Formats: sequence, C-alpha cells, structure tokens
Amino acid sequence: MGHMHGTHATDTRIDPAFRPAVTTPMTPAPTANVPAHDNPCLRCGACCASFRVDFAVDELQSHGGCVPDGLAVEITAHSARMRGTDHARPRCAALVGTVGEKACCGIHEWRPGPCREFGMLAPLGRGDEACNRARARHGLPPLD
Ligand code: SF4
Ligand code: SF4
Repeated sequence: MGHMHGTHATDTRIDPAFRPAVTTPMTPAPTANVPAHDNPCLRCGACCASFRVDFAVDELQSHGGCVPDGLAVEITAHSARMRGTDHARPRCAALVGTVGEKACCGIHEWRPGPCREFGMLAPLGRGDEACNRARARHGLPPLD
C-alpha cells in the first residue's frame, strides 16, 4: 500500500482506508437531475486537477470494469491510477475543459470508484473539506 501515500507531492483523493477494495457498483450519477447551471462542478473540475486518483485494477475495462485502460496506468498488480494525476501539477487525462471555467469528466459514466465517492453533494452546491481544498488550490472560493 506504500504507493498510495507518503512520497508524492499530491494528496490522494480518498484516504486509502476508505477506498473500496473491489469495483464500486454502477450507481446513478449524483448530477443526473441537476440542471447544469446549478451544478458548480461544471464550472470547477478542481478535484480532477488536484489529487492522485488510484483505484483497484478490477475497475479497468481490461479487467472487466468500465474505466478505459488508455486513460489509466497500472501501478501494481492490484492498483491503477488515472493518467496525469501524479504529475507535479496534477490533471487527470479524462478531464475536459478549463478548471474554474467549464470542466467535466470525459468518462463520467465510466469513472472509477474514488471519483464516484468524491464530493457527492458538491453538484448540489454543498462542498466538503476535500472539495474545498481542491478548489482553494485553484483559487476558487469554497462552496457553501
Ligand atoms: S467536487 Fe468540488 S472540487 Fe470537484 S468539481 Fe465539484 S465543486 Fe469542484
Ligand atoms: S476520471 Fe473523471 S472524475 Fe475522475 S479525476 Fe478523471 S476527470 Fe475527474
């Protein structure tokens, strides 16, 4: 588990202790019924350009999951990482748009578990500590 913390400049997106060990079941996106103009995530994207995003290899398409392999890197026999999220200035390879202006996940329906669990109330305008930390990194004010 040493690859998940400690030596990188970036934070992990989710505390490894809370990361699911197996593929997260597909669930409806929290944004499903939220009008775009009310969803602050669509003007943000900061979390996709702030944290390392690691997940179980089982979530890769090649392992029977749904995350496209080309957008991820296998880190160990058991874990994979979204490409670009361990750079000095992280930016997930799946992120489309401009952080703080207009941004969205290019693989929203197929994104890995940590992304599904992050900031689940943010689309409704309710941030949490990690969401607001990501926003602060990009000069964006906290959500209420
Ligand atoms: S969860 Fe928070 S940091 Fe991520 S896109 Fe939404 S508002 Fe931005
Ligand atoms: S997979 Fe999508 S939601 Fe997850 S970090 Fe990348 S752009 Fe963001």
